[in-house]
Amino acid sequence: MFIDTHAHLDLDQFPDVESVIESAVAAGVGRIINIGFGPKRWPTTLALAKRFPQIACTLGFHPGDADKFNPESADRLVELVRATNPVGIGEAGIDLHWPNNPALDLQRAAFAFQIDLALEHDLPLVIHQRAAEAEVAEQLEAADARLRVVLHSFDGTERLQNLALDRGWYIGIGGLMTRRTAPVRELLHRVPLDRFVLETDSPFLVPSGIESRRNEPANVPVIAERFAGLRGLPLDAIAAAARRNALAAFPRLVAVPAALEPVS
Ligand SMILES: [Zn+2]
Repeated sequence: MFIDTHAHLDLDQFPDVESVIESAVAAGVGRIINIGFGPKRWPTTLALAKRFPQIACTLGFHPGDADKFNPESADRLVELVRATNPVGIGEAGIDLHWPNNPALDLQRAAFAFQIDLALEHDLPLVIHQRAAEAEVAEQLEAADARLRVVLHSFDGTERLQNLALDRGWYIGIGGLMTRRTAPVRELLHRVPLDRFVLETDSPFLVPSGIESRRNEPANVPVIAERFAGLRGLPLDAIAAAARRNALAAFPRLVAVPAALEPVS
């Protein structure tokens, strides 16, 4: 069984979410972590997790939503983390790629808050980083050593890579890796087999060679196959490691019931 550790199935791109989950289950993807990445997405993510036993979730502020981070929304997040059963916090981090993103100081504040929240609840923090490696690394390096991290859709930047390998964090492998020129491929030749998780980031980052413009959790086996090819290992070995690692990275996943039941 495969686990998709990062998806956004509550977005408008999935009016057919039920059949998307059915296809995932048919492809052997029995569990999906949906990322509730901002105040607007918390209720839709929690509703999805309630409706489908295959779905677990995280809750947090995406750096693009850092302008919605304020005392009220922060309190609301704390309340939801206490009242529901998220398997992680995030996605959190810094994104300086888009010029109209929230100001860096806002992004830093939302990120720092979530680092503390993850530590307080002993939950893994899912990291989003784009064009902001130094800024993200700086905050993570300063964090308490007990912090557990998953570097979502890791792009292969060196400072974060060294930090992740040093601290025993997990590296999210998805569609980026399937692009031949991706810098992350260099790292993937030597990432320890107990330190990676698989993810799609659906509906984004469609693996190369797939016709559809929309990514889906059913594509996790495609990513696993490419990674197995890159490492020269049998698919079975990669699949077993990926499953073990996802459960180690997100220990609360085991508490999500009935993951293999068919969609009802
Ligand atoms: Zn995401």
